[in-house]
Amino acid sequence: AAKEQGRNRFNYFTPSMQEYAKYRMRLIQDLRQAVTNKEFELHYQPIVALATGEVTKAEALIRWHHCERGAVPPSEFIPVAEDTGLIVEIGNWVFEQAARQSAAWRHGLGVDIQISVNKSPIQFRDEGTLLNDWLKLLQELNITGAGVCVEITEGLLLDASMGVTEKLLAYRDAGVQVSLDDFGTGYSSLAYLKKFDIDYLKIDQSFTRNVDTDKNDQILCEAIIVMAHKLGMKVIAEGVETEAQRQVLLAAGCDYGQGYLFSRPIPASEFTQQYLQCRSLISDL
Ligand code: C2E
Ligand code: MG
Ligand code: MG
Ligand code: MG
Repeated sequence: AAKEQGRNRFNYFTPSMQEYAKYRMRLIQDLRQAVTNKEFELHYQPIVALATGEVTKAEALIRWHHCERGAVPPSEFIPVAEDTGLIVEIGNWVFEQAARQSAAWRHGLGVDIQISVNKSPIQFRDEGTLLNDWLKLLQELNITGAGVCVEITEGLLLDASMGVTEKLLAYRDAGVQVSLDDFGTGYSSLAYLKKFDIDYLKIDQSFTRNVDTDKNDQILCEAIIVMAHKLGMKVIAEGVETEAQRQVLLAAGCDYGQGYLFSRPIPASEFTQQYLQCRSLISDL
């Protein structure tokens, strides 16, 4: 009957919309399975001090290996996870994995790598007592709050109902730092920069992309960096792909860079091999 309706003139759902609805239903089912079966993995992308090349931070980025489809990008499944509330469970898993990795690097190799995790606005809403569980986990793993960092987006800060202020204060008390992700996009409001105590401002890659060729992008980046520094924040440029971009950002006083110029997001084992093993050898001497 639905098919027949699809052919009459009262049809509001085009075939492509029906296809999409079917696809989405399937994705939700698969995502539930994936949460149960732990089909996720974290990859780590180094965050590099622009002046020295030193790697002391990394961003954890989730990867989903779908049994039939292969890798599904986060841009495709994170929004669905947010809509269905599955993001809460996924987010807990991400935080726990990242904290365990930070502890493994610290206790196993003697290196402190601060791992950033992305936190969706929805996670703040449904959090409840969860924050305490997270902080307890850090204690159990014998790492300080400085071992992890939470990346939030500006959209989150708009919604006063989520008790964001209190939650960010609780992080601060535990020594967990906070980054403002994708700065300059979406519902940016400078008011939030004075309202919340934020440690790192991440310049969105749409500003970094042409920073070496477009004078306006360069001016905007410079202004963002000056403002952030005056407000006591450090700046991380996202999507740094070329040496020319790195040079311009460095000259503009940018503290850190993250992007394909340095490395793609890679599995923990590879990260250890490429960035940490030689350091641990040095510290062994
Ligand atoms: P994001 O937090 O802004 O992460 C940066 C994205 O830029 C990542 O995409 C990363 O792979 C990509 N990237 C890094 N360097 C470069 C570069 O030089 N050039 C270009 N073109 N891209 C670069 P990814 O891993 O596909 O993640 C996309 C988004 O999905 C993230 O954006 C974040 O918003 C979300 N996401 C990823 N993992 C998680 C997670 O564990 N939890 C939540 N809530 N969201 C996540
Ligand atoms: Mg991020
Ligand atoms: Mg970003
Ligand atoms: Mg601060």
